[in-house]
Amino acid sequence: MTCAYVGLGSNVGDREKYIENAIEKLRDADGVDVTRVSSFYETDPVGVEDQADFLNAVVEVDTALTPQEFLSVTKMIETELERTRERHWGPRTIDLDILLYDDLTITEPHLNVPHPEVKNRAFVLVPLAEIAPRKQLPSGERVADLLQELGETRGVNIYVRSADKSNETGKAEPNE
Ligand code: ATP
Ligand code: CA
Ligand code: CA
Repeated sequence: MTCAYVGLGSNVGDREKYIENAIEKLRDADGVDVTRVSSFYETDPVGVEDQADFLNAVVEVDTALTPQEFLSVTKMIETELERTRERHWGPRTIDLDILLYDDLTITEPHLNVPHPEVKNRAFVLVPLAEIAPRKQLPSGERVADLLQELGETRGVNIYVRSADKSNETGKAEPNE
């Protein structure tokens, strides 16, 4: 079995539902176990800024699939969740990026691992560091160190999921 990390993002429609559904579909996929799920984060769009805020999360999976097979699974999930590609880095119901795959370095036309932007993106490093701070990239760099080097985490804020909202403390009482 291989340990891999997947970044999820959504900024169209019911973002929380899209991310939850994508995680469910990963759980359901043959040869894939979801072993950790980060908190959800609300994040400012990066690259193309005139679009809605994203929700982002990172999951850890254990998988028996090859990287190419796993990529097919992620693309299938994107299609099932009505992902369309109108614009690079543009709005989307769901995006699944393979961040790390075991300790592999893959440079193929349709698959680059580690994902080339991992080190530059707080919306990836913050949730990744939450679930795997000591994980090393093939370069030997640790996730927590990369986050510290990036420094800037403004625009990446923890998101209170609707399932948790009823348990929130400090919530105003209805008759207050
Ligand atoms: P970015 O990759 O910078 O986050 P994006 O997610 O908007 O941008 P997409 O349109 O979702 O880009 O992906 C374009 C193609 O990138 C996919 O069809 C896929 O084949 C390829 N690709 C290369 N490396 C990866 C990877 N590590 N994970 C997912 N897709 C990848
Ligand atoms: Ca992406
Ligand atoms: Ca993508």
